[in-house]
Amino acid sequence: MKRYFIHTFGCQMNVNDSLRMSEALSKMSYVPTPEPENADLIILNTCSIREKAEDKMLSALGRYRAVKASRGAILGVGGCVAQQEKDKLLKKVPYLDFVFGPDNIAKLPEVITRVQEARERVVETAFVDSEEYVFPRADAETSRGKVTEFVTVMKGCDNVCSFCVVPHTRGREVSRAFPEVLVEVADLARVGLREVTLIGQNVNSYLGGISFAQLLLRTAEVPGIERVRFTTSHPHDLSDELIEAFRIQPKIAPHFHLPVQCGSDRILKMMRRDYTVEQYLVQLAKLRAARPGIAVTTDIIVGFPGETEEEFEMTMKLTELVKYENQFSFVYSPRPKTGAALREKDWGLIPHEVKVARLERLQKLQRRISGEYTQSQVGLDVEVMVEGRSRYDATKRFGRTPENRTVNFEGDAPAGSFVTVHIERATPNQLQGRQVAVLKEPTVAPLPVELPVPLHVPAEA
Ligand code: SAM
Ligand code: SF4
Repeated sequence: MKRYFIHTFGCQMNVNDSLRMSEALSKMSYVPTPEPENADLIILNTCSIREKAEDKMLSALGRYRAVKASRGAILGVGGCVAQQEKDKLLKKVPYLDFVFGPDNIAKLPEVITRVQEARERVVETAFVDSEEYVFPRADAETSRGKVTEFVTVMKGCDNVCSFCVVPHTRGREVSRAFPEVLVEVADLARVGLREVTLIGQNVNSYLGGISFAQLLLRTAEVPGIERVRFTTSHPHDLSDELIEAFRIQPKIAPHFHLPVQCGSDRILKMMRRDYTVEQYLVQLAKLRAARPGIAVTTDIIVGFPGETEEEFEMTMKLTELVKYENQFSFVYSPRPKTGAALREKDWGLIPHEVKVARLERLQKLQRRISGEYTQSQVGLDVEVMVEGRSRYDATKRFGRTPENRTVNFEGDAPAGSFVTVHIERATPNQLQGRQVAVLKEPTVAPLPVELPVPLHVPAEA
């Protein structure tokens, strides 16, 4: 048996792609190893959303070079950097064996065989950005023992946000036909999963035969499924129909990740986001009226070319006004072939130290607001879906509230149960408490040995 190790960078899409790679490798009799130094095959599934992500992958690649030298491991790069760099990556990294794009995961066995048997260096980065694209079908058995899973509903992006490399690395939008999505969800429910997160770069522009709102409603009706989540959404596609789905279906979890990017209309226009702050706030108010208490999170970029101090203050004000439960904020990073990178000198480069100082101020404000939310839960009884053992303390359990707040608690309910937890303490990032009641038992018998709870993957790492 040969061993493989996959190092995943970036967003949920990549995490999901790595799972599909694992499935393909297990059919070739490869088994996973947690130690890269014992691997016969190492794959880096990469992210190119910001320069830092690319730098991290290059330094990891340097470390894995030693494994290749010591045991002749095969080394491959997949994901967005692979798509962006294509054969240039093989020239840049002479010890690399293969490069494959996100649309070529199904070809992985063939690529590895070519490397092993023909000693070829292989590049597979063709886009399949049409309805001919076959979405890798998840094998539900791989998810047995888990409680929550991602389900891909679309790939690519048809928007042209001026800062973003995704349309170049993931291609045009293709939606997955809704019956296929529902079959995958039903298969997951059959092995005991209670929650699914429908994923795509811009899920609410879904066109897989029914609207995205309808897809959520149909997913929520799959027997065994108790919570439905999704990520990520573009504000201009936040339809009234989607808001209505939140009103009528309580299984659609009360959490909406709605990336605003910044609080200035002028910058939004330069970003080509095609909504104004006011339009964003109007839709948000409708959403909050439809589902009172819904947790709203966002993404923000600071230091976009030309952003003035006043415009940054608008982002601070918006953060304060919306009172986001949480946000992923980043300094602007110029990306190859993007509109903003081509024009940033004309628009005005923001010095790195200014960008970093703005980011620190924004993150400090967000920590305060997040802390207010978690503190407001102390003394309350909340519903928690149990995902397994706590990562911080093996004697405790870990789960999430419907709003996606993480909870570590004293209790004994197995993964897949729903319990009431009395919240006793809070930090800005998590709640702590003790189980006071069991609301629902798991739908299938728990595994004899509990799977480790995976690290929570943020909207964008
Ligand atoms: N599709 C989502 C949307 O429209 O908001 C965003 C997906 S993108 C993969 C995740 C986040 O990365 C974006 O919301 C943005 O905040 C951030 N991001 C994208 N390009 C960036 C760049 N060049 N510099 C800094 N942050 C960036
Ligand atoms: Fe990138 Fe999201 Fe804009 Fe698409 S909608 S280009 S993924 S930021």
